[in-house]
Amino acid sequence: MISLKVLKAKVAKQRNTVISALRRIKRDDPFSNQDRSIIVEPGTDAAQLFGHEQAVILEQKLKKDLKEIEMALSKIKKGTYGICERCGKKIDFARLEVKPQAIYCLKCEKEIEAKG
Ligand SMILES: [Zn+2]
Repeated sequence: MISLKVLKAKVAKQRNTVISALRRIKRDDPFSNQDRSIIVEPGTDAAQLFGHEQAVILEQKLKKDLKEIEMALSKIKKGTYGICERCGKKIDFARLEVKPQAIYCLKCEKEIEAKG
């Protein structure tokens, strides 16, 4: 069984991974230097456009991940890591092993997701 210390280290590592992935997306996105709400000119390369859309979707996902990771890191600082932000109960250790950046217990996360 891995320790809480290892899990905390994993969260910090994940943060670096997500940040470098975000940098990579920015670099690879064909439209990264242009306005996000560009009007597509006729003749715009379809593959480029597709690449841009994929990059935007991935970027949004990574930003969401990063937000979670930052929250988990602030919990580590506060000494409340492993405790659900919503109900105050302990988060299942098995859950933290799979998702070290989890800030909610499984029950709360499901309820939050159900609300949209
Ligand atoms: Zn909870």
